Amino acid sequence: MTDTVQEHQVLNPATEEVIATVPAATPAEVGAAVVRAAAAQAVWAAAAPGDRARILRQFAAAVDSHLEELAQLEVREAGHPVGNARWEAGNARDLLDYAAGGVERLCGSQIPVAGGLNVTFHEPLGVVAVIAPWNFPLPIAAWGSAPALAAGNAVILKPAETTPLTALRLAAIGLEAGLPEDLFQVLPGAGPVTGNALVEHPGVAKVVFTGSTAVGKQIMARCAASLKRVTLELGGKSPNIVFADADIERAAAAAPGSFLDNSGQDCCARTRILVQRGVYDRFMELLEPAVKAFTVGDPADPSTQMGPLISAVHLERVRSFVPEDAPAAIRGDTPAGKGFWYPATVLTPGTDDSPVTREEIFGPVAVVLPFEDEDEAVRLANATRYGLSGSIWTRDVGRAVRVSRAVAAGNLSVNSHSSVRYWTPFGGFGESGIGRELGPGALAAFTETKNVFIDTEESK
Ligand code: NAD
Repeated sequence: MTDTVQEHQVLNPATEEVIATVPAATPAEVGAAVVRAAAAQAVWAAAAPGDRARILRQFAAAVDSHLEELAQLEVREAGHPVGNARWEAGNARDLLDYAAGGVERLCGSQIPVAGGLNVTFHEPLGVVAVIAPWNFPLPIAAWGSAPALAAGNAVILKPAETTPLTALRLAAIGLEAGLPEDLFQVLPGAGPVTGNALVEHPGVAKVVFTGSTAVGKQIMARCAASLKRVTLELGGKSPNIVFADADIERAAAAAPGSFLDNSGQDCCARTRILVQRGVYDRFMELLEPAVKAFTVGDPADPSTQMGPLISAVHLERVRSFVPEDAPAAIRGDTPAGKGFWYPATVLTPGTDDSPVTREEIFGPVAVVLPFEDEDEAVRLANATRYGLSGSIWTRDVGRAVRVSRAVAAGNLSVNSHSSVRYWTPFGGFGESGIGRELGPGALAAFTETKNVFIDTEESK
């Protein structure tokens, strides 16, 4: 690994304009940051829980007062439609608030034993590294950082090379709101240099990584060397199962959003649409106008539903799966001119073992496959190494429950595509990851449980 100082240009993916140049942290700077973080963490962990909670609430309130600024920054650096970006900034605020509420509720337990008192404590881990991807820069920065801070840890956040700006702003807002110096640091830089230096640093106790499955596996292997704790939130290729007894109009109207939101750069995207044969033709008739009605264009326009892809490199990756002139059942339009645009695309490959049905494309591309019965739907849904999300459309309550139990994925929704609520657990089965974020267990995931037995027998 090199210690060479580098800079990253940040581009607006809708216009290709350079909007900032950000220095990359060298491994030596990572080392110094870990030392400072450890010192800040010792003081933070010793503070009264009520004080930590108050400061985190102040942080949440400060994010709220900068909500529009953060949303506009997300629009410019990530190309997200402004309506989505406002939701994302609000999600970061809400999670900080939720985590603040957890500080005083992070309770151990008292377990009955003979001859003494047995209690458990949740001890903070120390310095936590959060390595974030570019697809939801602001929410995912908060998902790892807010509960880790609330549980008494320090956080060093490494944002993706393409999207460091909202993370840097978030840390500055935290400092202004009263977070102690060095407790929450943001170190931009290249994954294999800055990210790797964090992963390999002995002073880092846990790595929370959100990104591709390939890099997640490398990080887990490196963490194994020192038994560093990991949470991995990785890729997905999620099913959207439409049974013949469903409200087909509703299912078809909702389907475009489930794989076009965030231009398909969504780990929870429902990119494998499985439709029961009896309603397949009707569903396709309804899907085509719904996909074509999805508004693509300037992310800053509040009526836009889909923006560009994140970068030229990523555009080439999506094209390597499906060139824009490849045969497609449905294809949308893209704006002319600059920007990393790729059209909404629906394929009907007729097989469940082609790369487009198996691999995470991470663009606005879905496949549609027919199925005969419930057994086949479940078999197709589970024919993937991933297991992050999925939807089940049916009016039959028994079937909804049966299929929800049978599909091997961490986040399922029935007659809906909703996946993320900051107060419910989120994470994947199989190669979609390890561990859970968000929800009632979010803070405990950043602690070690310590068991203490106190002998209460009288001395003789
Ligand atoms: P990526 O794996 O290329 O990079 C993610 C982060 O890891 C970036 O910050 C990158 O700089 C860093 N990184 C890369 N190589 C590294 C290394 N050797 N050591 C340490 N850090 C390194 O992923 P991406 O392209 O930024 O994001 C897209 C992927 O993220 C998709 O696969 C998507 O499904 C996944 N994702 C998962 C979730 C989830 O919650 N499950 C959420 C969002 C995105």
